[in-house]
Amino acid sequence: MTSQRTRNRMVHRLRERGIENEAVLATLASVPRHLFVDEAMATRAYEDTALPIGDGQTISQPYAVARMTEVLLEQGPIKKVLEVGTGSGYQSAILSQLVDTVYTVERIRNLLDKARHRFRALEYRNVHARHSDGSWGWATNGPYDAIIVTAAPPSVPEPLLEQLSVGGRMIVPVGNQHKQQMLTVITRTQNGYERQELSDVKFVPFLSGKS
Ligand code: SAH
Repeated sequence: MTSQRTRNRMVHRLRERGIENEAVLATLASVPRHLFVDEAMATRAYEDTALPIGDGQTISQPYAVARMTEVLLEQGPIKKVLEVGTGSGYQSAILSQLVDTVYTVERIRNLLDKARHRFRALEYRNVHARHSDGSWGWATNGPYDAIIVTAAPPSVPEPLLEQLSVGGRMIVPVGNQHKQQMLTVITRTQNGYERQELSDVKFVPFLSGKS
């Protein structure tokens, strides 16, 4: 249930659903998603669905991970990416194989500790994780070529816009739990920001403060 064959089947389904970037597909085929969920959930790790990871949070659906990663890479090679919402660490692990350096922040200490443990055990050495409220971004390492937000804020926090480099892209589900969320791409240009709306999505809420 957690074998390479199962992973390959998941990738086959992602391809059928429209993921085209071969590097992204190869990365999803190689990263062991079952090690990013609790053992009791491991047999379901290669279904294309979000799964609980504790603390009321979920590991994102493989399709969402693949699609968001593919959209970020459309702009060209990425040196530095900031992820807000480390959660299980799975999205960070995928990014770590496709960019130079991943910075990721998580507001829930317990989840962050578990994710860090996984990065160490699996030797994803270019991932730097921090316990903080991602509303403030992570200014000391910015600006970033790419920012990915994996929880849904009602509107995009200003510091994240400021920490995006010119020519850089952010992908973020904007909205709240009750209304629909819109997966949005924001590109920073010389003169400001361009917005593009991609599709309706459902992510856990973006919350402020640490716990
Ligand atoms: N990328 C994760 C998805 C986890 S769900 C994965 O691959 O598993 C989204 C995560 O965002 C949750 O863990 C939640 O605690 C976190 N989150 C929500 N609001 C946040 C904020 N303001 N700052 C940092 N993390 C936040």
